Amino acid sequence: MNQIRAQLELPFASPSPSPVVACSAVLDGQPISYVLHRSHGRRRISLSVDERGLRIGAPLRASMREIETVLRDHARWVVRKLTQWTEKRPPGRRWESGETLMYMGRPLQLNVAAGTENITPQDSALQVSIPRVQPENIAALVRAWLRTQALSDFATRIERYRVAMAVVPADIRLSNARTRWGSCHASGRILLNWRLIQMPARLIDYVVVHELAHLREMNHSPRFWTVVAKEIPDYLARRREIRRDAHQYILD
Ligand SMILES: [Zn+2]
Repeated sequence: MNQIRAQLELPFASPSPSPVVACSAVLDGQPISYVLHRSHGRRRISLSVDERGLRIGAPLRASMREIETVLRDHARWVVRKLTQWTEKRPPGRRWESGETLMYMGRPLQLNVAAGTENITPQDSALQVSIPRVQPENIAALVRAWLRTQALSDFATRIERYRVAMAVVPADIRLSNARTRWGSCHASGRILLNWRLIQMPARLIDYVVVHELAHLREMNHSPRFWTVVAKEIPDYLARRREIRRDAHQYILD
């Protein structure tokens, strides 16, 4: 029997088992924080580092002493990986002319001028006209524009795939989640992260199909992946690509 859950989420990286606890430690003289996931099925303590930082997976019964021992044994590796990710993380936006943002997989250069409020993509630039040229105003206007584009783009894709997949979503909404690309609720509501609009179309398609497939299979069983594969035969490659590049798309 498949377990029916009320909601399934597509996280930025791998799904996180609960319970989850935020912890801190000192490694090589540096204070670091990490997230500890304990779970039933886990046999040993494992460490992973990605754009969210250090995460430790542990069996339910593992003691903090055991966990800290593993952490100390791998201190060098952890510190090196954390440094690599910090360097990989794009710098925060300044919201000014010349900056680049991603739109459907291609870079658009921000070109801001004072004037009546208006945004137009033009070749490889995003022309922004705004009465008060200030970072917070530009940010708000550009984000609102991206969300509008996202909603209409996602609606078109859903319309295309839902016919082929013979599913009827009850409701489509944009999400602003910090940790997941999409989710599907038992009620038939689908939430898609507006940040997806930065990705190439083929990756947006994968997320759309993934969520629609949950309307057929509310789980991640082999049957679910068969439904996905019918529309996206190379879904494994696309899923890998999204996980690999997630850090690029989590800017704000
Ligand atoms: Zn899913």
